[in-house]
Amino acid sequence: MAIKVTNPVVEIDGDEMTRIIWQSIREKLVRPFLDIDLKYYDLGIRHRDETDDRITVDAAEAIKKYGVGVKCATITPNAARVKEYDLKQQWKSPNGTIRSILDGTVFRKPIIIKNIPPAVAKWRKPVIIGRHAYGDIYKNTEMVVEGPGIAEIVFTPAGGGERKVVKIHEFKGAGVVMGMHNTEKSIRSFAQACIKYALSEKVDLWFGAKDTISKQYHGFFRDIFAEEIGKAQGALQAAAIQYRYMLIDDAVAQVMKSEGGMLWACMNYDGDVMSDMIASGFGSLGLMTSVLVSPEGQFEYEAAHGTVMRHYYEYLKGNPTSTNSVASIFAWTGAIGKRGELDGTPEVVRFAETLERIVIETVEDGIMTKDLMLIAEPKVAKYALTEEFVDAVAARLKEKMNA
Ligand code: NAP
Ligand code: MG
Repeated sequence: MAIKVTNPVVEIDGDEMTRIIWQSIREKLVRPFLDIDLKYYDLGIRHRDETDDRITVDAAEAIKKYGVGVKCATITPNAARVKEYDLKQQWKSPNGTIRSILDGTVFRKPIIIKNIPPAVAKWRKPVIIGRHAYGDIYKNTEMVVEGPGIAEIVFTPAGGGERKVVKIHEFKGAGVVMGMHNTEKSIRSFAQACIKYALSEKVDLWFGAKDTISKQYHGFFRDIFAEEIGKAQGALQAAAIQYRYMLIDDAVAQVMKSEGGMLWACMNYDGDVMSDMIASGFGSLGLMTSVLVSPEGQFEYEAAHGTVMRHYYEYLKGNPTSTNSVASIFAWTGAIGKRGELDGTPEVVRFAETLERIVIETVEDGIMTKDLMLIAEPKVAKYALTEEFVDAVAARLKEKMNA
C-alpha cells in the first residue's frame, strides 16, 4: 500500500546525466511507495528553448503556489551550449530565475557518511552554508576605463531632492570600475531565513563580513543581522542557539578548526566560493544537498552539483557510468519530508527518513559510486555503476517497506 501524500509536490526536471538519474529515482524510489501528486515542469534545455523560458517562470510560480518543490540540475547555457543545442538565445540560469521569483536563500548541507571521511579530520557534523542569493557582484555594472578620468557614484533620489556624488577613483590611465548594490529588504529577509533555518535545524548561526574595510556596505549587512538577531533573541535563547559575528577571514579560520554543526551565513560571493570548498572538503559534490527557502516559507530542494556533463557524454556513447545519485535522492527526501511536515503527516516524514537512512547504510556497507570509492575509508574493492547503486537502494527500500 502506497503512503498517501496530502498535497502536491512540484517536480522540476532537468538535463543530461542528472535527468537520467532523475527518472530512476522517481520510478524506483518514489512512485512505488508514495501516492503523490507531482506537478511536473520540464526544464530540460530544449523545452526551455521551445517555451522561450516561460516554463521556468511557471515552475517558480508553482512552488509559490504549492510550497514545496524538487529540482533536477539544469544546463545554464553558455556560448558552447547555444551551439550544441541550437538555442534561440543564451537563456538565463534557471536557478537564478527561480531564486529571484522566490526571493529565497540557498542553504547547502553535506551528507555525512561514516566511511567517507572529510578532508578536515575534525569535521564531524555538517558545515551548512547559507548563501545570500541576491545582488553584490551578481547584479553588478562594470566598465573598462580606457584612459585618465574620474569615476563617480551618483545617486538621484526619486521625486527630486539633491543628487549625491561620491568619487570612486581618479584614473591616471586605463583601469576598470564596478558598481554594485544590495537592498535592505533582501538582506533582512536573508537574515530572517538564516535565523529560521538555524532554529529548525537547531544549529548555531555564524555570520562573517569584511566590515573593517567596507565600513558602510559590509557594515550595513552586519547591522541588519544584529537587528534581526535582536528580534529573535527569545526564540534563539530558548533553543540554546548562539549567534556569532566575525570578520570573514576569522570565520574561515574558525570553520577549519571547528567540528562543524553550524549554519555559516555568507554574503553572495563568499557563499559561492566557500560552498565549493566545503563541498569538496566533505568528500564529493555528489554528497552536497541544497535547499532554497523563501521568506514566506516555500522550499525548493536540489543537489548542489550540475548535470555531470562528462558522464552524460560517456552514457551517450553507450559506455558504463558511475554517477553518484545520493544528493539527488536527498533532494527528493528533503522535499517529501518537508511536504509531510507541512501537511502534518508523520508517515510521509518517516518514509523520507527511512529512505535517507537506507542510502547512508548502503554506502556504509561498501556499495558506492566511483567518486566515493576513491575516498572511502576503509577501501572498497569495486564501485557500483549509476543504475546499480539506485537498484541496490531500491531493493533495500522494498524489503524495509514490506516488513
Ligand atoms: P558538474 O555537473 O557539477 O560536474 C563536474 C564534475 O564533478 C563532474 O565531471 C564529475 O567529475 C564531478 N561530479 C559532479 N557531480 C557528480 C556526481 N553526482 N557523481 C559523480 N561525480 C560528480 O559541473 P559541470 O560538468 O561543470 O557542469 C555541467 C552543467 O551543469 C553545466 O551546463 C552547468 O551550467 C550546469 N550546472 C547546473 C547546476 C544546477 O542546476 N544547480 C549547478 C552547477 C552546474 P569527474 O568528471 O571527475 O567524474
Ligand atoms: Mg560556486
